[in-house]
Amino acid sequence: MSLPIIGLTINLIAMSVGDYSFERFYINRYYADAIVQAAAVPLLLPITTKDEIIERYVDLIDGLLLTGGHDVNPLFYGEQPHNLLTSLYPERDKYELKLIKKVFAAKKPIFAICRGMQILNVAFGGTLYQDITLGSPATIKHMQQAPAQEVTHTVTLIPDSILFSLFKRESISVNSFHHQAIKKLATGFSVCAIAPDGILESIERKDYPFMLAVQWHPEMLIEKHAEMRLLFKEFVAAANSEMQQNKYKQSSNKGISAGSIDFGKRQ
Ligand code: MN
Repeated sequence: MSLPIIGLTINLIAMSVGDYSFERFYINRYYADAIVQAAAVPLLLPITTKDEIIERYVDLIDGLLLTGGHDVNPLFYGEQPHNLLTSLYPERDKYELKLIKKVFAAKKPIFAICRGMQILNVAFGGTLYQDITLGSPATIKHMQQAPAQEVTHTVTLIPDSILFSLFKRESISVNSFHHQAIKKLATGFSVCAIAPDGILESIERKDYPFMLAVQWHPEMLIEKHAEMRLLFKEFVAAANSEMQQNKYKQSSNKGISAGSIDFGKRQ
């Protein structure tokens, strides 16, 4: 049995060591480990804005995991930068906005975490609070100082949402490492989970095979809070059925050409 391939977006960091300075692509291992644990193959997709490379990425993968990272450049949602904005890597934004559109056109499953949820919202026309102190309803601490493996605030799950169907209850506890949040929700999305102060913590698209985003970091909870594995399991199941459908399409195409070769031999 072959396993589905999950493409992971990655981060960029500028480093200097002694006299040398360089840029490095990297990812926190928790994302890749969570995909492996859910029985899929993690494939890191380095930043590029070249269409032909991104299109090949989309062909290669059965699902896309949008990982966490820096703030999204507010110019992409029509705002000027506020002083409370932290560091940006606009090249990653440009790359991910293209990638999201191409994966969406191919109707492949998408799971988005933290910044991933924010850029997904921006990709479909939503906006963000550049910092949750800037007019958002936030009253609780969303940048926890407890270890990442600990849950620190609750979220209410909306009935009829994919999260409610997975967790089968109205409230779960999550970790929280974000200073931004969704302001205007993009058209076509619905809310899955909301924090007690009204901050959106999870969204989905119901008119699509699988598109789920969470503001927390489930990949860092799966060891101590094993039920968070449900999210990766459900995502990988969607990627698996995407892979099976594509295989079926490819084999029925091959069937046609093999048939015509046989016909030729008989002549
Ligand atoms: Mn939070």
